[in-house]
Amino acid sequence: VSTFSGKTVALFGLGGSGLSTAKALAAGGARVYVWDDSEPACEKAREAGFTPYDLHEADWSLFHALILTPGAPLTHPAPHWTVAKAREAGVEVIGDIELFLRERARLCPRAPLVAITGTNGKSTTTSLIAHILREAGADVQMGGNIGVPILDLESPSEARIHVVECSTFQIDLAPSLNPSVGVLLNLTPDHLDRHGSMENYAAIKQRLVEASEFAVVGRDDVYCEAIFQYLKRLGHAVVGISNTQPQALGAVRYEAGMLRRAFALPSMKTLDEPLFDLSRAPALRGAHNGQNAAAAFSACERLGVTHDEIGAGLKSYPGLAHRMEQVARHGKVLFVNDSKATNADAAEKALLSFNDIYWIIGGKAKAGGIAPLRPLFPKVRKAYLIGAAADEFAKTIEGAVAYEQCGTLDAATAAAARDAAASDAAEPVVLLSPACASYDQFKNFELRGDAFREAVRGLENPAPQDE
Ligand code: ADP
Repeated sequence: VSTFSGKTVALFGLGGSGLSTAKALAAGGARVYVWDDSEPACEKAREAGFTPYDLHEADWSLFHALILTPGAPLTHPAPHWTVAKAREAGVEVIGDIELFLRERARLCPRAPLVAITGTNGKSTTTSLIAHILREAGADVQMGGNIGVPILDLESPSEARIHVVECSTFQIDLAPSLNPSVGVLLNLTPDHLDRHGSMENYAAIKQRLVEASEFAVVGRDDVYCEAIFQYLKRLGHAVVGISNTQPQALGAVRYEAGMLRRAFALPSMKTLDEPLFDLSRAPALRGAHNGQNAAAAFSACERLGVTHDEIGAGLKSYPGLAHRMEQVARHGKVLFVNDSKATNADAAEKALLSFNDIYWIIGGKAKAGGIAPLRPLFPKVRKAYLIGAAADEFAKTIEGAVAYEQCGTLDAATAAAARDAAASDAAEPVVLLSPACASYDQFKNFELRGDAFREAVRGLENPAPQDE
């Protein structure tokens, strides 16, 4: 990126995409000073030819900008005072999405950009939109908060659509954000530790849709509904999506497994048009995915994709790894990897989406454990407990759900597969939706999901017996 060609900039946070951002800035002719409080991260930067420079001690009059990378808030719960000092000195504080936007403004201001945010469902919706567009023949680049850092994507051009997942942090650091289509799925009080109040959190998210040429906004929570109404009042091009408001005219709704849309006829009667039967999209089970699919439908429709093409894309969408990912089917037994469900809220979505569940749970429990899931216990045939939370969870389900203490994920997978195969259910499901963080037994939820997939594969191909 050449925005800072010949200028001196500081970059804070070398985790995640930090180093690739530093490289992009340097390649564009900027003098880049990098810092991270983690010594191994600084060492990596040295190996890549950068000289770490402690930005806590910086003389900000020397710098044109401070680039905060998505890694920064993770390694630094509170780099606020450093940032405040930079701002005080009149130094702008921006992130990698802003760098991308300036490059886009320079190279091709009309390049189509779809930006997606929300509390939940961002990655699913982003990858779904990218998939539908690709299947319809578009040249698509997907990245941002999902997968590839935005500056590592192919450059913007008139015929290329960038589909970008944006975290709150990234929106906050992108003052020129102006997507062609902006999607705001939902807002629930989450991550407030990072963003202060709900008002602040919602205001940052609102900016993404307010600054877009065309907005798609979820109408199923009070915050998003208020933002939708506000945009309407402004006369902004906005379309709603909803799972809960059957009367919402013009909105793409998810209702009883279908995507539908009602509109008013000149006679004042309304016509309710069925758009797509989501039971034909195996990777989009559950009402929460109805919201994601409705958003993707609206965004792709706006970009000129036909309803048939959207339907084909919804149907062939393969889903994301570790989010209700269907990893195998052995006979009638379906194996589902929902390792991303690190809390009860996320596990609830999985329990709602299946029946006759052989449920693998446990790990490092969050406050509150699985008690909120009690109403869904009747859907569970048996639970297989692993990790540090096993005893606590056993107490919660005692008397309501049959269970087995398994210790490890491998043992739990084998036991659940055995019971599910012997089940009288038509489609028993072995579900890893642990409602826990993974780090008591695994490095992260991805490795936990990979281990589950491996364990399932092991069931498929039993080790050859000795002669
Ligand atoms: P994000 O990228 O926002 O973290 P993901 O698409 O990765 O979201 O989904 C993570 C989890 O959040 C899913 O496994 C599911 O439990 C839940 N989820 C997904 N979409 C929604 C939605 N639209 N509303 C509420 N919860 C959702």
